[in-house]
Amino acid sequence: MSSLLLFLLLLFVLTLASTLEFRYHTNREMEQYLLQLTASNPDITHLYSIGPSVTGQQLWVLALGLSPSRHTVGIPEFKYVANMHGNEVLGRVLLLQLIDDLVRGYRNNETWSLQVLNSTRVHILPTMNPDGFDASNTDCMYSQGRGNYNGIDLNRNFPDAFAGLRRQQQLDEEKREAEVRAVIGWLRSESFVLSANLHGGALVASYPYDSSNGGKELVGGASISPDDDVFIHLAKVYSHSHGSMHRGYHCGDSRPFQDGVTNGYQWYPLTGGMQDYNYVWAQCLELTLEISCCKFPPANQLPALWMENRKSLLAFIQQVHLGVKGRVFDGSGVPVQNAVVEVKGRSNMCPFRTDQHGEYYRLLLPGNYSFTVTYPGHKVLTETLNVPHGPDHYSAMKHDFMLRLIPTTTGRTQARPTNANHNQANITKGNPSTTCNYTIHLDSGGDVSRCTWTGLGVGLGLVAVLRSLIG
Ligand SMILES: [Zn+2]
Repeated sequence: MSSLLLFLLLLFVLTLASTLEFRYHTNREMEQYLLQLTASNPDITHLYSIGPSVTGQQLWVLALGLSPSRHTVGIPEFKYVANMHGNEVLGRVLLLQLIDDLVRGYRNNETWSLQVLNSTRVHILPTMNPDGFDASNTDCMYSQGRGNYNGIDLNRNFPDAFAGLRRQQQLDEEKREAEVRAVIGWLRSESFVLSANLHGGALVASYPYDSSNGGKELVGGASISPDDDVFIHLAKVYSHSHGSMHRGYHCGDSRPFQDGVTNGYQWYPLTGGMQDYNYVWAQCLELTLEISCCKFPPANQLPALWMENRKSLLAFIQQVHLGVKGRVFDGSGVPVQNAVVEVKGRSNMCPFRTDQHGEYYRLLLPGNYSFTVTYPGHKVLTETLNVPHGPDHYSAMKHDFMLRLIPTTTGRTQARPTNANHNQANITKGNPSTTCNYTIHLDSGGDVSRCTWTGLGVGLGLVAVLRSLIG
């Protein structure tokens, strides 16, 4: 048998083996599945851990894309997170199905999957709280397993921009839960553009802010962010692509949601939530998707629940291509990190900045926008851009900003500042008591100690194949 034939046979066996059952996989089974999938698809998948849970279970993330193990300039980073509340379990099932669907679609040359993986790097964390999952029972409503191993609600454990410095000092990073520290480190290691965080117990797409300190963000009972129009659009994309969310069904005990969407604060205020943290500190627009009235639906309902959510999960990923993307170059034509890229009328608490590749991504609805780009030693640059609807063709509008040096009186131009001069930025707008904590990205991937498992996964996968051939 030629080596090519043998390879094709192995691929065929692995493809069969990777078909995923509709049931609740244990954490161990999930890990095995992800390892095998990565082993058989090393060209488009990359498995890594963002750190351990309290009891030492790895928080596995599967990245999918044409360059799954590293960022490509111009390709936005997207993420889905599920099972942050250990007893809200549908999200982890749906995200495993989504992984399976995307990989099989790509292997079968299906256009929808090729379009996603050619244009986007998708990171999927199926469980953020594996210890809570282990502790949960199968109840629809009660909250056993909601918290982590220490009984802490992870969606109340993030820094809160509105709670002010005093609370932040009380709850400094060392006191945060292991799972929250892992996510914070993850957000520092990748520049995510768009995200959703999957929960259960309601049927609604909720968007920032969840919190407020009673300032001018409070409008009519909602806590309104500068990107409210974009958030409402994103939430409606999910609810209207979903089988029933847009009807605003209220799961019995809460009030109906118009269009199946809600401002988080307007529904119920909470501090220390993950979606506000993503948006304020990591310039990643995140939604909280409540995808089932029952937190632990019976396993025989899983295929139907997948079909209700499949289209919306894919449509939401596509929204990462809203707006404008590009790079900022300094006076010598070098892409620069930490250039501030602002859009007139949108005073973000932490202004959006370019990443280590000099890139910015700005999700915006179609229209005209005035951009201002500032960088030390350079003239402030203002340009008006006409922004089309990017998701239709899987790419945001591309626009680079070319800065010009400020000439000094001696005729020499100012030296390029070092990163150390401006890696900390104090917020000057919005909330003066909050400090934006910008982190310089390292080539090694920030401060997250990464376990990459592609090599081990390939080995384990081959063992599995050989076993199945022998058996
Ligand atoms: Zn929840």
